[in-house]
Amino acid sequence: MFPKNCPWCEQQITLHQLGSRPSKRPPKWYQFSRNAQVCPYCSGSVKLGGKAFRFLGLVAPLFILTLLQLFIDSDLLSIKYLTESFSVLAAIGFLGVYYFSRFEKNETV
Ligand SMILES: [Zn+2]
Repeated sequence: MFPKNCPWCEQQITLHQLGSRPSKRPPKWYQFSRNAQVCPYCSGSVKLGGKAFRFLGLVAPLFILTLLQLFIDSDLLSIKYLTESFSVLAAIGFLGVYYFSRFEKNETV
């Protein structure tokens, strides 16, 4: 696991170390309750953020290809290694999101 810095106290924490506490903001009509994720050292509320979520764009080709295969005869899409290369792109996208995302201060909860 890659530790990331807490934006409040600069301690290195990983995703699974995050605690949770009830959010001060009331739940929406479709939520039973709302929890805020907090740092185990300073109990400051954090959320995953940063520009890393742009990496999710790499997942789009595989998603679109899968959708197309539902509607179009799959012979048209039988380009060699197309699915494989899009899968690699998607994997890089997910890794990129995980590796480059940072914890940000969550001041609204
Ligand atoms: Zn902290």
